[in-house]
Amino acid sequence: MVDNLSKEQRQENMRRIRSKNTTPEKVVRSLLHKLGFRFRLHRNEMPGKPDIVLPKYKTAIFVHGCFWHRHTGCKRATFPKSNVEYWLEKFKKNVRRDKRNRMDLENTGWKFVLIWECEIKDIEKLKRKLIKSILRDAH
Ligand SMILES: [Zn+2]
Repeated sequence: MVDNLSKEQRQENMRRIRSKNTTPEKVVRSLLHKLGFRFRLHRNEMPGKPDIVLPKYKTAIFVHGCFWHRHTGCKRATFPKSNVEYWLEKFKKNVRRDKRNRMDLENTGWKFVLIWECEIKDIEKLKRKLIKSILRDAH
């Protein structure tokens, strides 16, 4: 990946990529809906602003882009070939923030489920993961 965007273009790109209602999120939502789970969206007051929450199961779902959130071992988590220092710092911050948010969330008695964008392509597997993670420890 060659990065020859201006600072403004890069920021605009990031804003777009980070914006809510991305396709992977829609896929997860429609799956949950089909499975009959009731959920809410974008709880901004919760740590990490989870994309989807299931209050009944005290479960927060994050749908993460593999590039921005650095999915370990994933081919989508490429590393830009220019502005290396900038990206290194950026990624480090993202990963650190994600980790802290998940810890904060767990400290408030919620559990989290992490869905990576690359997991969207195998719907059956994704469905199993969702059911299993949501019902884990459910009373
Ligand atoms: Zn991935």
